[in-house]
Amino acid sequence: MTKYFVLIILAILVLSACSGPGVMQSEQRPLEGINITLDPGHGNTQAYDSFRIGPGGEREEWINLRVAKILARKLSRAGANVLMTRTRDQDVSLGGRASLAIGHHSDLFVSIHHNGSENDPDMDLPIVYFFGPASMNPASVDFAKILLDSMRAKMIFEQQEAGAVYSDHLIYSSGTSVLRNTVNEMPGVIGEGGFFTHPAGESRLQLKEYNQLEADIYFKAILEYFKRGAPSAKPLVPDSLTFIDLGKPLEFELDDGFGNTFFEEYSFKVLQDGVEIPTRWNSKAGILTATPDSSIEKTVTFQVFARNLRGNAMHPVLLEYMTETGYKWYSREKWFDAYKEAESLYSQITSRNPIALESQIVLIDSALHFYQLSLELQFVHPQARHAEEKILWLLQEKQNLLNIDLSEAIESQKERLEEYYPE
Ligand SMILES: [Zn+2]
Repeated sequence: MTKYFVLIILAILVLSACSGPGVMQSEQRPLEGINITLDPGHGNTQAYDSFRIGPGGEREEWINLRVAKILARKLSRAGANVLMTRTRDQDVSLGGRASLAIGHHSDLFVSIHHNGSENDPDMDLPIVYFFGPASMNPASVDFAKILLDSMRAKMIFEQQEAGAVYSDHLIYSSGTSVLRNTVNEMPGVIGEGGFFTHPAGESRLQLKEYNQLEADIYFKAILEYFKRGAPSAKPLVPDSLTFIDLGKPLEFELDDGFGNTFFEEYSFKVLQDGVEIPTRWNSKAGILTATPDSSIEKTVTFQVFARNLRGNAMHPVLLEYMTETGYKWYSREKWFDAYKEAESLYSQITSRNPIALESQIVLIDSALHFYQLSLELQFVHPQARHAEEKILWLLQEKQNLLNIDLSEAIESQKERLEEYYPE
């Protein structure tokens, strides 16, 4: 096998890891192996943000971080792989938070916030936001409802009976950045566990015991959600970024979250570019067959909807393919997108903003993925040498940071540079 082949296989492994559905869960430890990203909202905004502060001087970003840290420990103990978008009072860009969640292949994204009111110090109630509309995001809504119910049952609010699950389109017409940029891949919510502008609310939120209570509520809601299983649909076609024949039926292998095929009978739906197409469910085989509209050119997207018998909806991950006629058009456009993404990740890695080692590794792996992807998508790649050099640097950086032996991959990348790009 040539070195070049090894690289291609590596790239394919990275690709398939990106598109795979969640792991099969165990009944006893429902969080075992589940990837969760916790996003403590804001961070290090004291210099310019005079709004997110309570009457007693407590800042929202501090509360968010305290709750998230306790929650991260609880989740890790239960077997989940937890990634935090920040672990100290640090400003992380909204786009950076979403890329971290995607790089972590998260099964759930939880952004932890607390609310404030500029003109009503009496206001104090919980809100959980999902990326709207609800019909397009049923798994996030399922989780949001579980979380809100337990906040209302166990936490203290001035308006104890109030509180709601809302679409984030009520805040901004295109929704919130973190949920919009993660929704194609994973369910997610923004939790607002009370108002820091309410004087008694702020005092509560300053208490370590109350932060622990709140973290426990998130923990139990996450546990309850995954107990019901996170259903997934695996397309039985080549990985996304390859092209498919729309003249043939499209098959998806469904899993209710426990390796079974127990789904509500009338819950199946497949959308092609947002429009429902005919489906047929074979419960014995666990295969959902869809008949695509073959008149489409260029790229095409699919989303699968179903609800398992424990009441949990599948998150309709956006599956993107190209049709044969659109392949050339697609790769011409996409190699540059991939390259641009890689460059942006690279500049985050080399920026002077210190971040946690775990996050740095996620960024490095994502950057490697996108540089390799750009090379695969475009044979005549104007920035090819540059991309290959960056891949070498990233491998070396990863080896140094993790203190592991990547010498084989590094050597083969060096050879590749010499053989294919002689100066
Ligand atoms: Zn906030």
